[in-house]
Amino acid sequence: MVGLGYAHAMRPPFLSLVPLLLGTLIACGPSQPSGPLPGAGVVAIVGGQLIDGTGSDPIAESVVLVRDGRIETVGPRSSTPVPDGAEVVAATGQTVMPGLVETHAHYHGDLDRVRRQFRTQLYFGVTTARSIGADPPDKVALMLEAHAGQVTAPRMYTAGLGFSYPDGFPPGSPVNRPHTDDEARQMVAALAEQGVHFVKMWVNRMPTPGMKITPEMRTTVVEQAIVHDLVPVAHIIEEADLAQLLDLGVRDFLHTVEDTDISQDLLERLRETGTVLSPTLTNMHAGWLWIDHPELLDDPEVRAAFEPEALARWSDPAHRDEAAADPTLEGRKARLAGAMAFVNILTDAGVRVAVGTDSGAGNGTWNVPQGWGTHHELELYVEAGLTPMQAIVAATQTGATLLSRGEPEFGILAAGKVADLIVLNGDPLADIANTRDIERVMQRGEWLDRTTLMTIP
Ligand SMILES: [Zn+2]
Repeated sequence: MVGLGYAHAMRPPFLSLVPLLLGTLIACGPSQPSGPLPGAGVVAIVGGQLIDGTGSDPIAESVVLVRDGRIETVGPRSSTPVPDGAEVVAATGQTVMPGLVETHAHYHGDLDRVRRQFRTQLYFGVTTARSIGADPPDKVALMLEAHAGQVTAPRMYTAGLGFSYPDGFPPGSPVNRPHTDDEARQMVAALAEQGVHFVKMWVNRMPTPGMKITPEMRTTVVEQAIVHDLVPVAHIIEEADLAQLLDLGVRDFLHTVEDTDISQDLLERLRETGTVLSPTLTNMHAGWLWIDHPELLDDPEVRAAFEPEALARWSDPAHRDEAAADPTLEGRKARLAGAMAFVNILTDAGVRVAVGTDSGAGNGTWNVPQGWGTHHELELYVEAGLTPMQAIVAATQTGATLLSRGEPEFGILAAGKVADLIVLNGDPLADIANTRDIERVMQRGEWLDRTTLMTIP
């Protein structure tokens, strides 16, 4: 089962022991010799504003206790004692929130290069990510190691290689392109054999309108995914495709409806079925963001996170001039404006959105720096009209629930959950850009040394 393959043992019943141990300590006084202190092995993050990922009101001054990789307790400082012997991390003036969940990423290059992209994401506090459609078997194997915590990486989910029409999108990529139902069945079975979590499908009219995976073939792929207990995920941009796939049982969509204003009826069905969309605004914006804001290309974190080829290209003023003169630019800006409005429409209708950037997409362009882009998606959500808290929930609980197929073990700061969290210097509720002002990253209860994750030039 997805989400249960975790390398940690079930949490022992520490919660019930702590009051007992504390009671013993108080009764005996501090001078009693021998025996471990009740807080031994506990990390206590004390005094920070707590944002738990669920959308609940923040706790202004909190205590977060972490033991054996999991959250033992969270609560207000006034009512949450720190056990003796705990390692105290002062977080006054800072914010503690869950590590980010990226639902739509791609990883390119050889496995060493993929590992570098993993570390870049971790540097930016992305502690969980989904690689959605471009993983041949060797990358699937690496993703599964990352899922199990055996690689310095976010907790990875993968769809292996996705499905498309024989000559369809993405052009030239070696994805699954079945000609017959039988072929499609064999391809889904092969993915199941590899141990993937999701089955990805591109339902895209590009590059040629007729070359879209057929409705019949979509049906086969979705049915076979369900037969193998894999979760179908679809890239859609047209309302009719979204509606058909929703009827087939797909509950996990990438991108936005661009061809029409979505109907109230369809919105209602998305809400009722608990469907989640990951709109990928950043990948759209990144086509001209670097023209409008060349100063970002001097930001050391951007420079370090960018793929070197992409940084070199955007740093060239001639390339920026050329991109600024691209006749498709105005149309693409209008698409982003439409997608931002769509995010608002979904949210107002009670349809959940998750945070996915399409980082690593673009077959050599790689306009979205891994990790950095995940934070940019939050900024665009707020610019679109979501509150900072709604954007944070999209990047934590919603993404975690989506990837976990239910109640997640991570993505929420609550007793019993895996301790994947970030400590921020600023308040993201005051300015969402503060999610990027990261002081510390904890994964599975361990602080990561960020200086080893990414080299700042
Ligand atoms: Zn993608």
